Amino acid sequence: MRYVIIGGSIASVGAIEGIRKFDREGSITVISNEPDPYYSRPLISYYLAGKIDRAGLYYRKPEFYQRNRVRVITGKACNLAPDGVVTLESGEKIPFDRLLLAVGGTPLLYDRLAAGRDNVVGFYTLEDVERIRLQVQPGIRVAVIGAGLVGLKAAEALYYLKARPTVVDLAPHPLSGILDPVGGEMVERHLRSRGVEFKLGMEVSSLEGTPRVKQVVFQDGSHLDCDMVIIAAGVRPNLALAAGAGIDIEQGILVDEHQETSIPSVYAAGDVAQAGELLTGDKKVVPILPLAWEQGRTAGMNMAGHEAEYRGSLAVNSVNLLDMSIMTAGDSRAEGLSAVGDNPPFYRKITLHDGIISGLIAINQVDNMGIITAMIRKRVRIHGQESLLLQPRLNGVDLRGCLQTAIN
Ligand SMILES: Cc1cc2nc3c(=O)[nH]c(=O)nc-3n(C[C@H](O)[C@H](O)[C@H](O)COP(=O)(O)OP(=O)(O)OC[C@H]3O[C@@H](n4cnc5c(N)ncnc54)[C@H](O)[C@@H]3O)c2cc1C
Repeated sequence: MRYVIIGGSIASVGAIEGIRKFDREGSITVISNEPDPYYSRPLISYYLAGKIDRAGLYYRKPEFYQRNRVRVITGKACNLAPDGVVTLESGEKIPFDRLLLAVGGTPLLYDRLAAGRDNVVGFYTLEDVERIRLQVQPGIRVAVIGAGLVGLKAAEALYYLKARPTVVDLAPHPLSGILDPVGGEMVERHLRSRGVEFKLGMEVSSLEGTPRVKQVVFQDGSHLDCDMVIIAAGVRPNLALAAGAGIDIEQGILVDEHQETSIPSVYAAGDVAQAGELLTGDKKVVPILPLAWEQGRTAGMNMAGHEAEYRGSLAVNSVNLLDMSIMTAGDSRAEGLSAVGDNPPFYRKITLHDGIISGLIAINQVDNMGIITAMIRKRVRIHGQESLLLQPRLNGVDLRGCLQTAIN
């Protein structure tokens, strides 16, 4: 069996592990247009801040590919013929029996804003971080476009480097994709108290200055002076290869519960895949790392002939920003029951759907939140135990009692 995987990141790693669980003999080829072997994107901000060294970025040992007998080709796949051939930019043709598209996403706004500018950088790859390291110095003013998790991790790293970050976003509060206004404003207050500036509810219209940008200009005509710009405004799935091959796509590549696309023997996983969501069953792109690995592994096992079903995506985020712990799960922005405290600050919210716990926000005091996440996953009905789940300090024994009422 000839397996080909396009993309060399975490979904690809999951697939190699899934394939090798059931097939020790087949040939595996990974085509990756990043020169580095697999490294963890969530760690690049810690590398930028100097908290870990380059070796600390790699979740798998250097001999991972050798041990799994994987041939790695550095290059870009530019065409996929569904009858079994991938063509690289170099012209090389790679035949396959089973193919996985693990091609992730491309940063939004980057192509439009960065072209021809020396001091505009993305925040997605190790190469981006190496470019930032060459330019960043104490005191420089950095506009970070995007107040999502990636933009805030960039701002945190800049804070540690003694630069002066200002985070810019169209949304009225940070982390608007996972937090409600109460939680978002708490995060904003905390980061402002540490010197991170914000310009929220502001739409970027252009960057002024070539080859070096000097200003971010907003739709309302105002501007922000800066010495450098980091673009961290989210990603859009890389759909060109799938579209060119006639594979069904919507926001991402549509896959079934085996991660197989509309073309048999062609699979997709990770940030590019639109897979079933755990709570609603709807198909959605949920771009987070553990799900990319799980989807890749599910795809790999199926590619190797072992029937495995993806259990469905549940968005779980856990992040620490300048000593503030933040955790969210499921339908976290819906209306819910909440508790807020000031001294020390904490926020806890649970959301319910027909009495079944469906979402969570916890800011500071996040102990035992894994158990609540497990309840969401198992769709536990909360019988008058709401106040227990809102207490700042949770008792794990009580919590485990709640799990006994699991349905499904
Ligand atoms: C700074 C940062 C922090 C993050 N923090 C978190 C976090 O705390 N928690 C969390 O869950 N998630 C986090 N994420 C998201 C997480 O990293 C992604 O969900 C995950 O990397 C997706 O993995 P993937 O394998 O699907 O795709 P990607 O990691 O995007 O990798 C896709 C790979 O495919 C390659 N490729 C694309 N097209 C081609 C082609 N045509 N030919 C060859 N190769 C190609 C790309 O170059 C890339 O190397 C973070 C992301 C970033 C950038």
